[in-house]
Amino acid sequence: MRKKIVAGNWKMHKNAEQTEDLLNELIAKLPTVSEAQVIVAPTFVNLASAVAHLEFTTIEVAAQNVHQAESGAFTGEVSADMLKSVGVNYVILGHSERRAIFKETDALIANKVDTSLKHELTVIFCFGEELKDRQTGNHFNVVENQLTDGLFQIEKESWPNVILAYEPVWAIGTGETASPEQAQEMHEFIRETVRKAFGKEIAEEVSILYGGSVKPENAKEIFSKPDVDGGLIGGAALKADDFVAIVTAI
Ligand code: PEP
Repeated sequence: MRKKIVAGNWKMHKNAEQTEDLLNELIAKLPTVSEAQVIVAPTFVNLASAVAHLEFTTIEVAAQNVHQAESGAFTGEVSADMLKSVGVNYVILGHSERRAIFKETDALIANKVDTSLKHELTVIFCFGEELKDRQTGNHFNVVENQLTDGLFQIEKESWPNVILAYEPVWAIGTGETASPEQAQEMHEFIRETVRKAFGKEIAEEVSILYGGSVKPENAKEIFSKPDVDGGLIGGAALKADDFVAIVTAI
C-alpha cells in the first residue's frame, strides 16, 4: 500500500519565532494517529530548530532546495550533507518557483536529485505544466519530459526515496485549482509513465501528491481520487487550522 502524504511548503515565510509558534500549533492540533505522513518545509535557517522541536513527533522536516555539489566555493548555498547533519530527511526539488525564478533546468534538477539520493534524502520531485501548455494540449508531453529529463536517470532501487508532486503552474498560489478530474487524469498518466519506464511495482508504490491551491474546502474531493496520494500545500500550510483540516481530509 502506498503512503499518503501531506507536505507543507512554507516558502520564504515565517521567522524563527513564527516557525516555533506554527510548529507548536501543529503539534497541538494534528491528530496523533493519522493516515498521512506529515512533512513541513521551513526555510533553511529554521530547519535545525524545527527538527529539534519535532523530535518526539511523527512530523518530518524537508528542505526547500539543496545544492548539487558535495561542498565547495558556492557562496550562499547549502549541501545535502549539511541537511542530513541537522536531521533533515526530505528535500523539495524542481518546484516551479525554482524553475521559473531561479532558472533551474531539468538537467540541474536531475543533478540535485542524484546528489540528494546519494545522501539518503527523500526527494519530493515537483513538476507540472504551465497554462499555455494546457491550453495548447501539450500538458501530457511537458509532464512526461520533466519526468524523463529530471528524474528518470535514477536507479530502480532509489524509488522508495522518491515522492512525486504534480503541481500545474497555473494552479500554484493563484486560487485556481485543477478539478479533481483533471488531477486524477494527470496522476493516472504519471503513474503510467512511471510504469512504462520502471515497471508496475514501482508505479503502484510511488506516492503522487497534487499541489496547487489546495484548501480545506477542496482537499477531500481531490484526495478522494484513486491516483492522488496526498498534497503539497503552499499558502494553506501557513495557517495551522487550514493545514490540519487538509491533513485530516485524507
Ligand atoms: C506550492 O507552492 O507548492 C503550492 C502548492 O502553493 P499553493 O498551495 O499556495 O498553490
